[in-house]
Amino acid sequence: MRLSRFFLPVLRETPKEAEIISHQLMLRAGMVRQASAGIYSWLPLGLKVLQRIETIVREEQDRSGAIEMLMPTLQQADLWRESGRYDAYGPEMLRFRDRHEREMLYGPTNEELITQIFRDAVRSYRDLPRNLYHIQWKFRDEVRPRFGVMRGREFLMKDAYSFDINAAAARQAYHRMFVAYLRTFARMGLKSIPMAADTGPIGGDLSHEFIILAETGESRVYCHADLLDLRVPPADVDFAGDLAPLIEQWTKPYAATDEKHEDVRFAAEVPAEKRLSARGIEVGHIFFFGTKYSEPMGCRVQGPDGSMIAVQMGSYGIGVSRLVGAIIEASHDAAGIVWPVPVAPFEVALINLKAGDKDTDRACEDLYARLMRAGVSVLYEDTEERAGAKFASMDLIGLPFQLIVGPKGVKNGEVEVKERRSGERVNLAPDAAVKRLVELISARRLLV
Ligand code: ATP
Ligand code: MG
Repeated sequence: MRLSRFFLPVLRETPKEAEIISHQLMLRAGMVRQASAGIYSWLPLGLKVLQRIETIVREEQDRSGAIEMLMPTLQQADLWRESGRYDAYGPEMLRFRDRHEREMLYGPTNEELITQIFRDAVRSYRDLPRNLYHIQWKFRDEVRPRFGVMRGREFLMKDAYSFDINAAAARQAYHRMFVAYLRTFARMGLKSIPMAADTGPIGGDLSHEFIILAETGESRVYCHADLLDLRVPPADVDFAGDLAPLIEQWTKPYAATDEKHEDVRFAAEVPAEKRLSARGIEVGHIFFFGTKYSEPMGCRVQGPDGSMIAVQMGSYGIGVSRLVGAIIEASHDAAGIVWPVPVAPFEVALINLKAGDKDTDRACEDLYARLMRAGVSVLYEDTEERAGAKFASMDLIGLPFQLIVGPKGVKNGEVEVKERRSGERVNLAPDAAVKRLVELISARRLLV
């Protein structure tokens, strides 16, 4: 992508309305603009990150055996009356009427709709287990939308729903999602900690929140420090096998959010020097809730002995748009964002220090073409800005590598490769620079 033809409205000043660093940087880097309170437009750079996060989420859901579909954003109120949640949900639900005076709502979550679909389609225990997911916008009229996309009113969520014949099988479905979540967040360069959590309005008796530690997080959390060093399950983890030992390893050390925290247990189970009390960002939340929806909504299948059995269900959310903010909270410095390669909007910023100079332009065009042929995604800074401004804005948007090309270097047969995170720079011949970038980037594309 040539910057001269891209749409990247960067801001020099920090917008006053933004309280936390990720929100400030997302506005400054031209990733989002607020449309109204808690509702955002995703500008091209922000959308690229959102899509890369979505892809990782999708790949790990698919790997674990979940199946993608797409449900609408708008739902009928009557469906929510079947579960009893229409009245229970409260003012967070955006309700309205269509032209025929039918009561409608903008979905804050999808348990009812998926249960209806499943109930109307599935008759036999032979059609179980299944896990269906979609990645779709939700609306919750939050009392206090804040921190940009971290607590929006409209936000993108991945939500999955599992259907099983009995509680033991449902527990395995829960385990598969648990492992998929560990991998999903690790692939984005995040250390997530699963913590025993409250089930809230979704209901149920088994639940974990996946938390990223960050000072700006809205949750207060308590855990054993060893959880930060556990190894994330590899890509070839056997989802058909018994995941219980793995889950045991991740759930045995103490970890709880505020609502579930017990001081006495914490002190008894965790040695003082390993007691971590911190703030965190909830990036995912998984629930097992048995027949809470299948029973009232009549989602039953015929069991092996012919009897009708209400299916055992769970639901599994990931805050896809919240993750954009969470990754920035975890990965930035004084100059701006520092994207981990797997979620970066582009992998390399190719910076032309003297656009309009024939030799420099030619060298840049050649490098641009060669990097793209090698499968590297490049933002080519080909504008006539002065060098200082280019450096500042490229540091701000945080692409993992910069390839800096100026007239003097070109004359000496040299270009500069800079790694955004470490600030390390090396001068190399153009050939060697391309080779080095391709190597570094391929090594960092897959973090787990
Ligand atoms: P919170 O406690 O942060 O309000 P929640 O428990 O109500 O979230 P869930 O119903 O568990 O949210 O939704 C699944 C995931 O969706 C959450 O783990 C979070 O990452 C994300 N999410 C929830 N609410 C918002 C929001 N207002 N803005 C952005 N992401 C959100
Ligand atoms: Mg939650």
